[in-house]
Amino acid sequence: MAIDLLTPAQIDEMRPAGRFVAEVLTALQEAADVGVNLLDLDALAHEMIRERGAESCYIDYAPSFGNGPFGKVLCTSVNDAVLHGLPHDYRLADGDLVSFDFAVTVDGWVCDSAVSMIVGTPDEKDQWLIDVTQEALDAAIAVARPGFKIGDISRAIGDVGRKHGLGINKQFGGHSVGRTMHGGLHIPNDGRPKRGYPLKPGVVIAIEPWFLHTTDEIVMDPDGWTIRSADGSRGAHVEHTVAITDGDPIVMTARG
Ligand code: MG
Ligand code: MG
Repeated sequence: MAIDLLTPAQIDEMRPAGRFVAEVLTALQEAADVGVNLLDLDALAHEMIRERGAESCYIDYAPSFGNGPFGKVLCTSVNDAVLHGLPHDYRLADGDLVSFDFAVTVDGWVCDSAVSMIVGTPDEKDQWLIDVTQEALDAAIAVARPGFKIGDISRAIGDVGRKHGLGINKQFGGHSVGRTMHGGLHIPNDGRPKRGYPLKPGVVIAIEPWFLHTTDEIVMDPDGWTIRSADGSRGAHVEHTVAITDGDPIVMTARG
């Protein structure tokens, strides 16, 4: 599969998309509270998209696994939902673990990022799960450099999960990003080091570890989108779009 390598100038052109995605996720984190409806959070993101003149990657998204088109601009995955949560008429409750996943096109370039948080009073175990998922993302970003391969990114995520006794699901993972949300590279959340596509300057990838408390099995919600843990345990999901350079990686969607 041919992978588009972006020039440093193209990576610079992509920065506004990354900044905007970070801005929206920050606004969502600030707005999310006990009693806030998921539909209102989707509306907030939609309004920000309109004001910015950006384009949602989700609203018309209709992949083979989904009950498409998605129809919303934001994924809201609450508690045992972990991926692709379709916003619905639900008010967040005290202690809910919610993940927001958001991708848009700005000036012709896509960035994609996700964050997990707890609303109201945090449960210690849930906060731990979020922290471990973030640790996996950080470990993966640390090897997002020339000299490593996609398998090293995968392995870094898998190793953190294993170290903490978590199961690792490889069905949904990261991907390359550019003019479209999903480029030619798939990045499973576990794999073999020194295998797969070599990371070179200009490779831009979305890295997205997610873990469930007590299972690695998932089930599809009847809504045809939302992916839940098979055993009802809660999940966390974090994601950044990262550009590989000849120096340090650039976290395009870093929040201030
Ligand atoms: Mg995403
Ligand atoms: Mg993604």
